[in-house]
Amino acid sequence: MRYFPVIVVGGGLAGLRAAIEVNMHNIQVCVLSRVHPVRSHSLAAQGGINGALGNHARGVYDSPEKHAFDTVKGSDYLGDQDAIIRMCNDAPLRIYEMEHWGCPFSRTSEGKIAQRPFGGAGFPRTAYAEDKTGHVLLHTLYEQIVKFEHSSERADIVVLDEMLVTSLVVDDGRCVGVVALNLKSGQFEAFQSDAVIFATGGSGRIYSNSTNALISTALGIYIPFREGAPLKDMEFIQFHPTTLIGTNILMTEGCRGEGGFLLNNKGERFLANYEDSKNAMEVAPRDIVARNIQREIDAGRGFENSYVHLDIRHLGEKRINERLPGIRELCIKFANIDPVVDPIPVQPGQHYTMGGIDTDINGASEIKGLYAAGECACVSVHGANRLGGNSLLETIVYGAIAGRSCAEYVSSLSKTKIGTEIIEARLRDEERRAKEIVSKDGDYIICDVRDKLAQVMAQKVGLFRSESQLKSALEDIQEAREKFAKVKFNSKSKSLSYNYEFINYLETEANICISEVVVRGAIERRESRGSHFRIDYPKRDDAQFLKHTIARYSKGEISLSYKPVKIVKWEPKERKY
Ligand SMILES: Cc1cc2nc3c(=O)[nH]c(=O)nc-3n(C[C@H](O)[C@H](O)[C@H](O)COP(=O)(O)OP(=O)(O)OC[C@H]3O[C@@H](n4cnc5c(N)ncnc54)[C@H](O)[C@@H]3O)c2cc1C
Repeated sequence: MRYFPVIVVGGGLAGLRAAIEVNMHNIQVCVLSRVHPVRSHSLAAQGGINGALGNHARGVYDSPEKHAFDTVKGSDYLGDQDAIIRMCNDAPLRIYEMEHWGCPFSRTSEGKIAQRPFGGAGFPRTAYAEDKTGHVLLHTLYEQIVKFEHSSERADIVVLDEMLVTSLVVDDGRCVGVVALNLKSGQFEAFQSDAVIFATGGSGRIYSNSTNALISTALGIYIPFREGAPLKDMEFIQFHPTTLIGTNILMTEGCRGEGGFLLNNKGERFLANYEDSKNAMEVAPRDIVARNIQREIDAGRGFENSYVHLDIRHLGEKRINERLPGIRELCIKFANIDPVVDPIPVQPGQHYTMGGIDTDINGASEIKGLYAAGECACVSVHGANRLGGNSLLETIVYGAIAGRSCAEYVSSLSKTKIGTEIIEARLRDEERRAKEIVSKDGDYIICDVRDKLAQVMAQKVGLFRSESQLKSALEDIQEAREKFAKVKFNSKSKSLSYNYEFINYLETEANICISEVVVRGAIERRESRGSHFRIDYPKRDDAQFLKHTIARYSKGEISLSYKPVKIVKWEPKERKY
């Protein structure tokens, strides 16, 4: 069994930033990731990262306080204001840190980091690198990791990729390690550790129409959930207004930030016809724009009953090549259209998981020694609706914060390296369970169960929700669970080395459980707030629902409770743009 004082699960932006911070405290840290870090979903982030740098001509009056207010309002007042203020205050520091580490941001004519307008923001506050912001941020952090991988200056960082963590080991309320499947060898390996930071990203793939990478499944949050870590606000799922028809590949908000229009089949900029988007138009927040696109389609003013047009032709070829080259390439390759001459066919699609592992403002979960950061965590800075550009920011701000508090916790421990026996026992349990799984011989195909469930989530737990649809989704989830108990393992090879059917099994089990958490939270939340819109309760209800949903798991049962929202500065008001 290998021992590391700190293990980070996940090599995306949050995981890498957390690992760097732990390492800065001269503590050895190991990053376990199911894919090579630079293949994490963070790489796909396009539009940019928010921070009140004030570099844009219109941004001179910007401030962290204004950024915080926009975020609170964007969250439909469900975000915790202390956590939001902390994130917005740290934003310039963390963005300049990335710049000093060599991140190649796009520049203004004066050589400053360029900023573009994004939805729900009062100022052009989104720093970017063309439309490949996640790509450059992730590579910059990975360079820092490599720098300290074999460090003689301070304790080293160890990166082990192709390692799928399958369980977290908790001993008497304290986190003591993890068990992972080495995808190359097909063997399970045990890791002992004094603290674990989860940074496993979003769960978007519980939906069939997601912009997320195929690896962004619910497994990452299911593992700690099963061990007793509560989840917060899981019913809040963000649907991005503009995903490419057919594949649901993201067409960044940057398209609209740069001046793109949304048009219906009459050629009208229809957002002007809706009370909640008539002023901000294309740069109204995502929840509002996504709903208004869907309303337009439902009213027969879309194309082929399924999409509207995102038109960036008027920006001209030069600007498109300069600011949105990735979007042009994606359209040409995946939809056979060139946005320089054709409008882009778009529809809303699942994009972001606002909820996640419940953490405090220091990234600590309820389990001692378990921390979480990035999309898998819920601090909560996004509340009921995330503003574009705030998620990349959250990964580096709260990645650093979780890393720091984890390092302080580990330094304060009087007894380390505990739980050896329980970790070894868990390793044997995992091996035994895997043998059972690969010998299953039931009636159903694993990926059929998974795909059907993902379609149910897209159809019944989408942009517009109602009690009857949600209850029907709950029945479908129960049916999925029953079928899942009777699946057959098809692969001839029973080796676990790159055995995707086995991985699929683990992910499907997680997706079933987490889908239920989403639906149960959505049924109980009898109001409309941010991304959660109930046609049977179309108004926000602060008297009853200005509170976080907390889901717990115990002995196979999910239970819900509630927790107050931290309001430290701005009282809730009606949200209009
Ligand atoms: C297409 C797209 C575009 C986006 N654009 C923007 C944008 O412009 N601005 C913005 O602010 N936000 C954007 N977002 C959101 C933002 O990119 C993500 O929320 C953020 O990058 C998530 O980072 P993360 O580090 O939390 O997780 P990820 O980058 O998803 O990384 C998760 C890591 O966890 C690992 N992992 C998961 N499960 C396991 C396991 N069981 N065992 C071992 N390893 C595991 C994976 O290998 C991976 O390394 C976008 C998202 C998408 C999908």
